[in-house]
Amino acid sequence: MDFTLPQEYLDLQDLYRKFAEEKVKPLAREMDENEKYDMGLLQEMKDCGFFGIPFDEKYGGAGSDVLSYVLCMEEMSKADASTGVTISVHTSLCASSIDQFGTEEQKEKWLRPLANGTKIGCFSLTEPGAGSDVSSARTTAVKEGDEYVINGEKIFTTNSGFADTFLVFALTDKSVPASKGMSAFLVDRNTPGLTVTPDIPRMGIRAASNAAVVYENVRVPAENLLGGVEGKGFKIAMKALDGGRIGIAAQAVGIAQGALNEAVRYVKERVQFGRPIAAFQNTQFKLAEMQTMIDAARLLTYRAAVAKDNGQPYNVYAAMAKLTASDVANQVTRGCVQLLGGYGFAREYSVERMMRDAKITEIYEGTSEVMKMVISGSMNLK
Ligand SMILES: Cc1cc2nc3c(=O)[nH]c(=O)nc-3n(C[C@H](O)[C@H](O)[C@H](O)COP(=O)(O)OP(=O)(O)OC[C@H]3O[C@@H](n4cnc5c(N)ncnc54)[C@H](O)[C@@H]3O)c2cc1C
Repeated sequence: MDFTLPQEYLDLQDLYRKFAEEKVKPLAREMDENEKYDMGLLQEMKDCGFFGIPFDEKYGGAGSDVLSYVLCMEEMSKADASTGVTISVHTSLCASSIDQFGTEEQKEKWLRPLANGTKIGCFSLTEPGAGSDVSSARTTAVKEGDEYVINGEKIFTTNSGFADTFLVFALTDKSVPASKGMSAFLVDRNTPGLTVTPDIPRMGIRAASNAAVVYENVRVPAENLLGGVEGKGFKIAMKALDGGRIGIAAQAVGIAQGALNEAVRYVKERVQFGRPIAAFQNTQFKLAEMQTMIDAARLLTYRAAVAKDNGQPYNVYAAMAKLTASDVANQVTRGCVQLLGGYGFAREYSVERMMRDAKITEIYEGTSEVMKMVISGSMNLK
């Protein structure tokens, strides 16, 4: 067993890091202040292939793997967590679901433009009354001839402000539990009846697009049913979230490392009581504790990614990685604000943004409590 990244991954990490430093970091504060993602940056990332990392070249992807995607997520999120989630929802929730469950025709039509960066995807599962409990979803899809008619309201759909492809979950059979009666549909943004509300004002990841989506008599051809079989939606959603949690864990590791790097720079320059504050043992010990926590979270995240790449079970590893990394991101960003003192609280320094951004990693793609349900559920406690 070797815990070092092979050279090909180090090269990729270097590429992602350079891009994040040169292109993302300079825009991060402005995008947060404006609560709007920069469309020029989005286009550059599309052009660089960052939206198709783990997908087969045969479908226009980069032909790489989950570990490479994790490295990208980490580097982008070090600079800007909103960039991280934009890539993550597109890749692990929307495109991956088509990759895993789509028919060959669906992959050609829907995955290819997502993997080659022509289009952006989103994942419309959560409803106002159905968050952690996905099975209480009420959106329906009724078959009429060779079409389905979708009606319902989704909330918190990331990327929905600019996404082209909506993966939406709806009940096709209300007489059975959602685990058997839910199906997943591919919907083009321009389909009549699909309305995206203005973005929901938020505490963190404010540059990311996140809105409610209303589906009112949205008619899609039956061929848009993902996988071509009704009743698979719940399984598709759960699988997508299992994989998505690896990306969110990487986002959390990135946020934490980004904040720590800022703090390390700052403590060497800030002088109090005649010495740089880096000379105080409290500062050194805090930084040592935080770097150790980040490394632990990173190792859990890489373990989950490699397990997925190797075709091994990974859902519990993914839950452990997300549970740990999100907690670490919150502890570390809070600790970094403290190390910067009053300047850490000022918006001029990025650690306050990172502290706000860290919180969401404990909530979306399954809350920390849900992660504990997944982990304890694997422990043979009955
Ligand atoms: C910024 C942002 C982006 C998002 N992006 C997307 C997206 O792209 N697509 C999408 O479909 N959804 C998205 N979501 C939704 C997100 O996944 C949900 O918010 C999350 O799953 C929690 O659901 P909820 O908000 O309804 O909270 P609830 O489920 O109401 O939970 C509230 C609290 O109760 C706890 N709780 C609930 N059930 C239990 C239980 N059985 N035992 C113990 N504790 C419990 C939770 O852990 C939490 O602390 C996003 C949310 C946000 C805020």
